[in-house]
Amino acid sequence: MKGIYLDHAATTPVDKEVFERIRPYYTELFGNADSPHAFGRRAMAAVDEARDTLASLLHAKNNEVYFTSGGTESDNWAILGGARAKRREGKTHVVISSIEHHASLFAAKTLENEGFSVSYLPVNKGGSVEVNALEEAITENTGLVALMWTNNETGVLQPIERACELAHEKGALFFTDAVQAAPYLPIDVEKLGVDMLSVSGHKFHGLKGSGALFIKNGVKIEKLVGGGEQERGLRGGTVNVASVVALAAAYEKTRKEQAETNKKLKNLSELFLQEISTLEDVTRNGESENALPSILNLRFGGVENTAFLYNMDLKGVCLAAGSACASASVKPSHVLTAMGLTEREAKESVRFSFGKTNEEEEVREAALLTKETVERLRK
Ligand SMILES: *Cc1c(COP(=O)(O)O)cnc(C)c1O
Repeated sequence: MKGIYLDHAATTPVDKEVFERIRPYYTELFGNADSPHAFGRRAMAAVDEARDTLASLLHAKNNEVYFTSGGTESDNWAILGGARAKRREGKTHVVISSIEHHASLFAAKTLENEGFSVSYLPVNKGGSVEVNALEEAITENTGLVALMWTNNETGVLQPIERACELAHEKGALFFTDAVQAAPYLPIDVEKLGVDMLSVSGHKFHGLKGSGALFIKNGVKIEKLVGGGEQERGLRGGTVNVASVVALAAAYEKTRKEQAETNKKLKNLSELFLQEISTLEDVTRNGESENALPSILNLRFGGVENTAFLYNMDLKGVCLAAGSACASASVKPSHVLTAMGLTEREAKESVRFSFGKTNEEEEVREAALLTKETVERLRK
């Protein structure tokens, strides 16, 4: 397909090498990994290898990696499963940031309906949770603290190491949604000390519908998807062999290229900002010193984002107003309003997210079209 794709926070193309790696699992190596015969054993060998690869890159043990159907399931499972398990110890309070992905916010809402009390942490103007707010919110009754590593709309990093320490001081579990961080930041679960961490394959050139949840050994959480003994009895369902092979292969390649990719992305975002620098009334949402190199969340004063996105799409440039999962709604972004933007300001904001396959020429072209479109819509 032609066009300039600047929506890598929504999804990324499957890496060609990864695609070739999984072809056999859709054809001759189609076995069910739970079958005891040769076809099954061959499939299980591939699943085991993928689990070993992913675990070693995350600095986890292989029995701490659970394959899921993606970031949404991992987030749901960690929050629902973690909080429900802690309820057995009498803990019925959950702390979560107000800027989490909808997958996590949905889980928190579900817990509220089950009688949990949930504290939603505010963020500052720069888009990050303040440690003070964490200290105040976490109590002896808190069973789970959930804070994403990097936000998917602004790219802003969150103080997860401190949040994890504070949670542990009060005997609570700590979960981080690392879906958006995984493509750009090396993950070492041992060093981070987290109890649970989620990743999603399609955000780093793997397949949609693939993901994993790291659950530290010794941490007990309730299952979400039952009815099969897969994943050590904690997540039922025939394992999607091609999908987990792709997840591990894509993550391995991502880690190998990470430093180089980040350098490229930083250059591309700087180039973009440079090229649109003559435009007036442009504000960047989120503190840039503390953010991923891949995301620029920009507000063009006086320009409604729906009109901007529509016109850019007509010119062949694809980007987003925020989370793709919520893009059909006309509601202003919950992340931007949490940062103190008015509804109108939030509706003047758009997210450019660059990827490793973008080239400088495309970025120049997109910047030119951005300038033209903003100026035209302002008239
Ligand atoms: C994309 C995303 C998810 C959801 O992952 P899926 O694999 O698409 O279900 C969760 N959290 C964040 C931060 C994301 O960016």
